[in-house]
Amino acid sequence: MSTKMTKDVSCPRCGAVIKTEMWPGIGAQESPPLRERVMDETLFDWKCPECGYEAQLVYPCLYHDKQNGFLVYVVPNAGCCSPQAVDVSEEFPQFGGMKKRVVTTPAGLKEKILIFEAGLDDLAVELVKLALADVAASKHGTEVETSYFSAVDREADRMEFSFFLPGRDEPVRRGTRLDVYRKSLEIVRSVGADGDSGKFESVDYDAAQETLRRYREEDE
Ligand SMILES: [Zn+2]
Repeated sequence: MSTKMTKDVSCPRCGAVIKTEMWPGIGAQESPPLRERVMDETLFDWKCPECGYEAQLVYPCLYHDKQNGFLVYVVPNAGCCSPQAVDVSEEFPQFGGMKKRVVTTPAGLKEKILIFEAGLDDLAVELVKLALADVAASKHGTEVETSYFSAVDREADRMEFSFFLPGRDEPVRRGTRLDVYRKSLEIVRSVGADGDSGKFESVDYDAAQETLRRYREEDE
């Protein structure tokens, strides 16, 4: 099920106090329209009806998808504290056995949904991203700021990603063959990183780096 709350938000521009609907809990199967708003990146949009000021208002939100077996917790600014500390498995025993992830942005939530709905392993996808980001960085002579999985096409044997470079609004798109993903999945399995500790985990760039480090250690 999904949970709604209404909070007073004061407009940072005109000061008007606006009753604002928020969704601290979203069920994928129960609320398809909310899932749609996550996917078109409008769920956290906020607009002041008095002066027209627009902003993104990101609040903690737990997205759950029973059918595909995953939970994603959006915790804005989780960089300030350890996301690993988020342990709600005791609070929510009904979510036992589901993959649990923590992300800090709406784009991060959307990416996890795309990955898990496609039946992919997110750590292996992060490894593919790591490899492709290096290629994109050397090609464009700059570091990649952020990158996102965008689609998989099993028939065409392709996986697509978007890479955001500094100073550019539009992402650079890059694809690769699924072989790279399968190799990455082997690495994930060989280090025993199944990403299912029962706690909310951050499976991101750092996790991919750590997995590679462990893999290389084992190799020596
Ligand atoms: Zn306003």
